[in-house]
Amino acid sequence: NWNFRSLVCGVNTKIPINSGEYVTAINFDNAATTPPFNYVLQEIVRFAPWYSSIHRGTGYKSQLSSSIYEASRKVVANFVNANLSSSTVIYVKNTTEAINKVARHLAGSPDDVIISSSMEHHSNDLPYRSKFKVEYISLDNKGRLDIKDLSNRLSKHKGRVKLVAITGASNVTGLINPVNSIAALCHKHNSKILVDGAQLIPHHPFDMSPKDPIEHIDFLVFSSHKMYAPFGIGVLVAPKEVFTNPSDQVGGGTVDLVTHDYVKWAELPNREEAGTPNLIGVVALTSAINMLSYVGLSKISAHELSLCEYAFNELNRIDGISLYGDTDIVDRVAIIPFNIDGIPHDITAKILSYEGGIAVRNGCFCAQPYIQKLLKISERDIEDRIKNPALPHPGVVRLSFGLYNTHNEVAYLIKLLKKIIKNKNYYYRLYKD
Ligand code: PMP
Repeated sequence: NWNFRSLVCGVNTKIPINSGEYVTAINFDNAATTPPFNYVLQEIVRFAPWYSSIHRGTGYKSQLSSSIYEASRKVVANFVNANLSSSTVIYVKNTTEAINKVARHLAGSPDDVIISSSMEHHSNDLPYRSKFKVEYISLDNKGRLDIKDLSNRLSKHKGRVKLVAITGASNVTGLINPVNSIAALCHKHNSKILVDGAQLIPHHPFDMSPKDPIEHIDFLVFSSHKMYAPFGIGVLVAPKEVFTNPSDQVGGGTVDLVTHDYVKWAELPNREEAGTPNLIGVVALTSAINMLSYVGLSKISAHELSLCEYAFNELNRIDGISLYGDTDIVDRVAIIPFNIDGIPHDITAKILSYEGGIAVRNGCFCAQPYIQKLLKISERDIEDRIKNPALPHPGVVRLSFGLYNTHNEVAYLIKLLKKIIKNKNYYYRLYKD
């Protein structure tokens, strides 16, 4: 049995709250960014004396750095079971940069279609809009994907769907999409699938290449800062064939031979990684992957979902809490969107922080269309907001658990929520400005 808490940096940090007391900070905002593993920090420090310029240096440290950098691609590929003979692992800054890269490389005409969904993060929607027609898979009344709607759209646009771009797990509701069966559907229609793994990869087992090839995932993207490593490195796994030559970004590192009027571009993946790469980021990412694999994603998922189930049971029993989307504990990661009736989301988040030292996130989480649907915001309301940007944004409060969170922390939150609801007017007035 793991003591998950001991794996993570900063879990016992004391912070001041409004009463003047110091309390142990509670972080229920892991969907935004996780704190780093202690092991990741140790590995960065252990590697620091050895890091040096990579790829062209002949010094001992340069050679070591280059081999660590290149070998890391296999660590990443093994972690998600990517097939390195047909796909390539490219390092980018984050999930957003990875998807922008895919959108720029996808060949096609403005008549071609990208099918995204109504539950996407803006990063898996906006990058496609300037180049393609984007359609959105509709949702059922629990906030899950309507697969029949996807199937209809694939049939309607026969052969013109360049990509089906969907999230592995929603950053708003935590709901997991059946990406392998969706992949089979896409492939039957000669389309490809991109899975936004930002929320899924750190919290749930994942396999890009299951037994049946029709279920293989073509593109996968994710970010290190959501998987217990620091900011600044992300992963794009993609079929080699999609990369146009030259890349969308060119410069140092992307070439084999250059004269004033001739360029021979480098092979993949280096051709896609212009400029000096983030070697420390890669060391951090692979250390985090090693730790996640060592602990085991099934165990991590079971622990996080037990927190989620406990929180749902308690929240359901409190009068004056609204929950959004499916509250079933299957096919989800541990994210809970809610509101206290009668208190705006931003004020609830403020109260939790100042009164309890609990960090959550509130708002729309870069998924405004999903929030509009979950909150049943009318077309007319949306139009009003477009006309008057000063109107406050609708939104929810989000709890997102990590492997180091505990049942005691959830119990503390529930107790505070009950206190806030009991003294609603008092807290509202105290924090409304
Ligand atoms: N997709 C999802 C589902 C996310 O949760 C996020 C981060 N909130 C992103 C994409 C974007 O990730 P990044 O900011 O690391 O590019």
